[in-house]
Amino acid sequence: MFLCRNAARAFGDSAPPIPGGWLPVEIPCLAMVTPSWVLQCLGQGTAAVGLLRCEEKDCRFGERSGLEGSVDYCRALLAEMGLSREAVQLFDSGVPEEPSPLGGGLPVAGANGAGAKTHVDFSPLGAGGALLKLAARHSPPPELLLTHPHSPFGMIEVLAGCTVCGACASACPAGAQAIERDEEGVSLAFTASSCVGCAGCLEVCPENIMELEKSTDLLALREEKRTLFSDTMPRCENCGEPIAPQAMLDRIGSILEDHPAFAALSKRCIECRKTMF
Ligand code: SF4
Ligand code: SF4
Repeated sequence: MFLCRNAARAFGDSAPPIPGGWLPVEIPCLAMVTPSWVLQCLGQGTAAVGLLRCEEKDCRFGERSGLEGSVDYCRALLAEMGLSREAVQLFDSGVPEEPSPLGGGLPVAGANGAGAKTHVDFSPLGAGGALLKLAARHSPPPELLLTHPHSPFGMIEVLAGCTVCGACASACPAGAQAIERDEEGVSLAFTASSCVGCAGCLEVCPENIMELEKSTDLLALREEKRTLFSDTMPRCENCGEPIAPQAMLDRIGSILEDHPAFAALSKRCIECRKTMF
């Protein structure tokens, strides 16, 4: 049971009336509790997660709607997994004696690592691992897909027009995108379990061709990575080094049109271009 400091203080010096079936965890503000935290707890074998909030007049940070959204997401996810949505509850008061458990059987010490010493990662990036752990324990539909504005995961699509410039991968704070090069060419790779849906990549894409959906897609979360776009890399006629992705050369060509500089740019790498004039 996470309870905010204000909610705890409201009971004065006496301990807050948290029934014995719960483990009270006092924190400065319930807005700290992200869906990732809740999934971490459930993924580690906790039977239920409660959140006891302070009264609206005492809430200093006004984060109640965000908290309600996070709780609504967790409950919707549990329902999609075939588990009891009552296993995650937001309380103003009236905490029940016993938690309403998740269903699907309580964890057994030793099974799936339950009961063993575990590490809980409360960062947003821990959400992917926590959900997969929960899925391993409860076997939800393998194609589970939940679109929700408070999903801690995002799914990225790249529409036509990508030049493989890599700006999105450089901007991603979670390392969910990467530019990969090999003998065949270059590609933009995406790891769904790392994406936190921050939309940072959309803001920097110079072509404005990225789309983000706040969704939890179990198939995508289980993938190691997927390729969003791939392209060939023409090679320098002089030294054989890669010049730039073909899509980028085409894009520059569409801007420069018949400018004589484009002939040099499209045939030689940056080093060999220096010796051309
Ligand atoms: S999606 Fe946009 S930012 Fe990312 S590589 Fe393509 S053009 Fe560049
Ligand atoms: S939405 Fe954020 S975390 Fe996801 S790929 Fe874009 S920058 Fe990275």
